[in-house]
Amino acid sequence: DIAVVGSNMVDLISYIDRMPTEGETVEAPDFRLGCGGKGANQAVAASRLGSDVLMVTRVGNDMFADNTIHNLEDNGIDTTYVMRTEATSGVAPIFVDPQSRNSIIIVKGANAKLCADDIAAARQAIAGCKLIIMQLEIPLETVYATVDLAGELGIPVLLNPAPADPRLSLDRVRGVEFIVPNESELSLISGMPVDTRADIVNAAHVLLDAGIPHVIVTLGAKGALWVSAAGQRLIPAQTVEAVDTTGAGDAFIGCFSHMWTTTGDVEASIRAANQYAAESVTRRGTQTSYAWGHGREPRGAR
Ligand code: ADP
Repeated sequence: DIAVVGSNMVDLISYIDRMPTEGETVEAPDFRLGCGGKGANQAVAASRLGSDVLMVTRVGNDMFADNTIHNLEDNGIDTTYVMRTEATSGVAPIFVDPQSRNSIIIVKGANAKLCADDIAAARQAIAGCKLIIMQLEIPLETVYATVDLAGELGIPVLLNPAPADPRLSLDRVRGVEFIVPNESELSLISGMPVDTRADIVNAAHVLLDAGIPHVIVTLGAKGALWVSAAGQRLIPAQTVEAVDTTGAGDAFIGCFSHMWTTTGDVEASIRAANQYAAESVTRRGTQTSYAWGHGREPRGAR
């Protein structure tokens, strides 16, 4: 079992011809509603691949809340600890222009209210899990409290430091088993440049020196670099025709977590994660681009 302590968002995607100027109204030819949020995305990927996933998150008291809960349930995720909050749900208005360039606004809403008490309330359920995964779309204090609880329970933690937050204290996340950043996140949390492969390895060593055993840096089309006390290893991605790379990092983490909790083999799990994430970039959308594992299907599908 995997516990995801993290965010959920509803993506409100307008496909525009151009951005409006101040005071102007423009018409967008197309619109899509999508389920997102890094926490929910990673939970969906792991669950589709066959893991039992528990999601600890907060939704608001609006129409988006039911939509989010239904989506998690359709993906086979345990929603016992999806808590309703006197707030708006997390939403992300996204504007995509004809060149596929996007402008994104993140409204954290209820996600900003996920607190240490919520994690404590889920303690019994979390205690039965083999891995806890977190990102940084919830308050840092909640991340730290969860790391502490995981330490007490002896459960490994995977931290995806996204979106990158320079206030993240490496000292407060000592004890985390895996940190999985992309290159820019690695640069921001280590305070080091990442222009060359040697830079990336040096930056990863800042995290190893802070007590993190495994740093897995995702490198987009180049795959992922695993740095640990045993050395460094580049695990290349397959060459694919990329159509839409949004959510690739979340696909990678969901698949890595599923594989690692079932096999315990880090390198094989990275290989599988590269493959799963590469497949996701060949399809449009975020969760809509994540494949289902053998014998898995949306709940209610026949
Ligand atoms: P993020 O989306 O978080 O910025 P990356 O861009 O590093 O993260 O992508 C995460 C993973 O997705 C990569 O490690 C790789 O496995 C896969 N991936 C991303 N882009 C491509 C691509 N163009 N071709 C193949 N695999 C890709």
